[in-house]
Amino acid sequence: ILRVSADHLLEILSDILDFSKIESGNLVLEKIPFSVDKLCRESLQLFSSRAAQNALRLDCSIDANLPPALVGDPVRLRQVLLNLIGNAVKFTEKGEVLVEVGPGASGGNAAPSAPGSETFLLEFRVADTGVGIPPDKLDAIFERFTQADSSTTRKYGGSGLGLTISRQLVELMNGRIGVKSDPGKGSTFTFTARFGWT
Ligand code: ADP
Repeated sequence: ILRVSADHLLEILSDILDFSKIESGNLVLEKIPFSVDKLCRESLQLFSSRAAQNALRLDCSIDANLPPALVGDPVRLRQVLLNLIGNAVKFTEKGEVLVEVGPGASGGNAAPSAPGSETFLLEFRVADTGVGIPPDKLDAIFERFTQADSSTTRKYGGSGLGLTISRQLVELMNGRIGVKSDPGKGSTFTFTARFGWT
């Protein structure tokens, strides 16, 4: 109980700290090379034991034509992915959570000609077969401290800051985030983000 409570407290504290850092305009993104393939697989793996408790299938599909090394902030990208995958696992009792990564709409024309000089738009999708989100709550969940249902904190914990932070981080990466959901059947969160490439 102590361990779970401490983890929960730490999660809330770091969410609040991140949120105020972003709000104050003091969050500067890094520009370092990383492998998006590795980052996605590692992020998903962190949830394997929690998913196994519900016999949830976790899977990831990464477009083979993406540049092998992108340049950006892997820590902040991982933070967005962990938040979306964490929510998907939390709100899904049976079925699967699928992460897909491919070129974004305007990044689809393969890689630009001169490495280092151009950017590449990626699109990430995190789809689950969970409880879903009522249509009238789809916008609100991106607002600070907002959850779809007032019983959510009691049942699942959380502070309602994760998606607000994710949206802010995605916007810092020159992308956009959105969600489509079918209540009772599942939700799909999609975001784009722009990276350099080597
Ligand atoms: P938290 O998870 O800490 O409550 P978030 O900002 O990450 O905060 O999410 C806000 C709310 O959006 C959640 O409390 C939940 O009501 C809803 N939500 C987010 N992701 C999902 C999902 N995959 N399936 C169903 N509801 C979701």
